[in-house]
Amino acid sequence: MLPIIETIPLRHMASGDVLSLQVYKFIGAQSGKKVYIQSNLHGAEISGNAVIHQLIEFLVGINAADLTGEIWLVPVCNPMGTNERAQHFSPGRYCSYEAKDWNRIFWDYEKEADDLAAFAKSQLLLEIEVVRHNYLTIIKQKFAQLLEKINSLSSVPFTQKFRYKLQSLSLDADYLIDLHSSNNQGLNYLYYFHNRELSSKYFLLDFGILLDEYDGDAFDEAFIKPWLALEQHFHSLGREIKFDVEAWTLELGTGMQINPDSVMQGVKGIQNYLIQKGCIRNIVLPSLSEDVTLNNQMLFIKRGNIIKYYSPIGGMIQDRVKLGCFVKVNEVIYKVLSFNKLSQLPQVIDIRAQESGLVYDISTNQAVNEGEFVIGIGAIQ
Ligand SMILES: [Zn+2]
Repeated sequence: MLPIIETIPLRHMASGDVLSLQVYKFIGAQSGKKVYIQSNLHGAEISGNAVIHQLIEFLVGINAADLTGEIWLVPVCNPMGTNERAQHFSPGRYCSYEAKDWNRIFWDYEKEADDLAAFAKSQLLLEIEVVRHNYLTIIKQKFAQLLEKINSLSSVPFTQKFRYKLQSLSLDADYLIDLHSSNNQGLNYLYYFHNRELSSKYFLLDFGILLDEYDGDAFDEAFIKPWLALEQHFHSLGREIKFDVEAWTLELGTGMQINPDSVMQGVKGIQNYLIQKGCIRNIVLPSLSEDVTLNNQMLFIKRGNIIKYYSPIGGMIQDRVKLGCFVKVNEVIYKVLSFNKLSQLPQVIDIRAQESGLVYDISTNQAVNEGEFVIGIGAIQ
């Protein structure tokens, strides 16, 4: 099956050049769910591009009859971030002009929906598919209003145009997957939302973080929060409802690198997810038994139990515990070699774990100013 390839102009630059997005749309023989997958929203987080490339090759190799619904793939979805450099390094996390994180800019319908309780009440007795359709129609109508401001004479800052382009591609998706990596060095894991543990196991990763606390306006959040909010309103009215709408952020390894293991885990996990969700049929993934694909054991940690350690003092990080290891409370997790200008000898200071847990993220830079990130640990209770 070959995809429909659509190129979308994104930004006209001062030099006259135009940055663009390219969408690869695989359309199945039968209609069904829409899956939207993008990569590289943060400029240094490039592993997902290799994942999408392998998914394109995988999908090209299957028949349209074996795909139900459609899969849209957008690699290098943020050219501004991808192309940014500071000497050899890729910063690429912020729109420096507006001083905003590229993944904290998205439009969240829930913040504008002041009549959700009344809407839920009006839909209380309807079939879930009808509710989904009615709600999506309202979200789309509200979203369309953003275009009026964009097209007005005064226009808008670029991040608002950028979010409009990406969200116009993904707003009506059923399943949304945003491929990231650590900005530093991280494990392969995912972020998931309330009541979606079961599907999270389909990605075959060892570890997942429940977003019980939100950053605000991230791509995955902005997509799913309105649906979770409506589920909650139904719950308050005594009806349990769960939309088949899911959002995932996969964190695949290390920034500025394409780690083959991270790519393999990303590809394998997404393939299995697509199979388990019924998007793809008649495909057997090599080396995966049914037992593994359905019963993957994952460690779940709540976002609220993540502890990020910031160096209390400037210096050089030494003897840090390794990525992926479990540490015990009060264990030394790193040392800071600290120099001074007080005519005293340098000191080495031990930093101990505040809680026991899994080391899932570490800084690449081992030189730190006071208050800079050193290590991330998911506390296991
Ligand atoms: Zn990221």
